[in-house]
Amino acid sequence: MTAPRLDVDLVAITHNTRTLVARLAPRGIRVTGISKAALGSPGVAAAMLRGGASGIGDARMENVARLRAGGTDATVMLIRSPMLSQVDDVVRDTDLSLNTEASVLDALSAAAVGRRTTHDVVLMVELGDLREGVPVDEVVDLAVTAARRPGLRLVGLGTNLACRSGVVPDQTKMDELTGLVEKVEGAVGDRLTVVTGGNSANLDWALATSDVGRIDDLRLGESILLGTEPLHRRPIDGLRTDAFTLVAELIEVKTKPAQPWGARGQTAFGHEPERDVRPGLVRQAIAAIGRQDVDPDGLVAPPGMVVLAASSDHLVIDVGDHDVTVGDEVAFGLGYGALVRAMTSPFVTKQESVSRTTPPIPRPRSAPRRPAVGR
Ligand SMILES: *Cc1c(COP(=O)(O)O)cnc(C)c1O
Repeated sequence: MTAPRLDVDLVAITHNTRTLVARLAPRGIRVTGISKAALGSPGVAAAMLRGGASGIGDARMENVARLRAGGTDATVMLIRSPMLSQVDDVVRDTDLSLNTEASVLDALSAAAVGRRTTHDVVLMVELGDLREGVPVDEVVDLAVTAARRPGLRLVGLGTNLACRSGVVPDQTKMDELTGLVEKVEGAVGDRLTVVTGGNSANLDWALATSDVGRIDDLRLGESILLGTEPLHRRPIDGLRTDAFTLVAELIEVKTKPAQPWGARGQTAFGHEPERDVRPGLVRQAIAAIGRQDVDPDGLVAPPGMVVLAASSDHLVIDVGDHDVTVGDEVAFGLGYGALVRAMTSPFVTKQESVSRTTPPIPRPRSAPRRPAVGR
């Protein structure tokens, strides 16, 4: 097998989707499976759809093209506001998009008319996280504008919290969105059928509340892919946290002093060198993977191993008492940032399977991921 590689267990992704769909359905909330962290993998999308996702969402048109080319014929939602330069592709390849700008709505309208089709639009509302969103007092006006544009169908409202500023999607925020839905319906005279309340950070609220209001959709990426919720990065009960495993190969294993020697300047990435390294000796291994491929801070090493440092192409690990040798593979768990970086590295092979290639090792409940070691 080639290394480094990202092993993707599609059964785990289906299980996680199915579990979340089953918990949210009684509350009247559908799940849009977000594939952007998997770069629009058609296999991952299919696994989400098998688990009951009502559609797929992605932030980038390149990923949408990959979904379509790979046979994804489900509803596809563009979850980042369309670039003006891409509206024609948006109208052709997606069913609906999340929007905040009148000029983009105009361009989508023209593109839809040009293609003799209809494009569904959802307006995103700014509720305090200060990323994308229409100010609350401008939502009704923009909704009326959108509803009047030929080729467009205003189908709903949405919001996105806990991304730029970590603002929690709580009952107050969701009640505010529900209130806006009713106001917009009053102004445009149509019922809105898509009220997409947020991302994986909304799960705490959605699973605990006794009043979901008008929220009928959540856009779930991290919780499906990694089994964690993003507010506190805790594993979600009943979900698998082992859908992704990053496997790297060891190219050096030696016992070395823990402390470097010689006069010291900056390290390769400009950090001041660590000064608090233990004295004595370390059983140290180098894995052939680096900052070009992964965010080392987001790696979860197997029990008994510690990631010590990383440069562009080398990951230095304290392997402790593990009996490893050159050529062995070491499997790491990943947080969201490390997953995204590994996914986008051309040096990391992606290996999707319906059963894992590395043997499962039980892990403590508190760890975000399950690591494993093997040949
Ligand atoms: C990335 C993203 C999501 C999915 O977020 P997760 O935390 O991975 O569930 C949902 N909506 C928007 C607008 C996003 O950009």
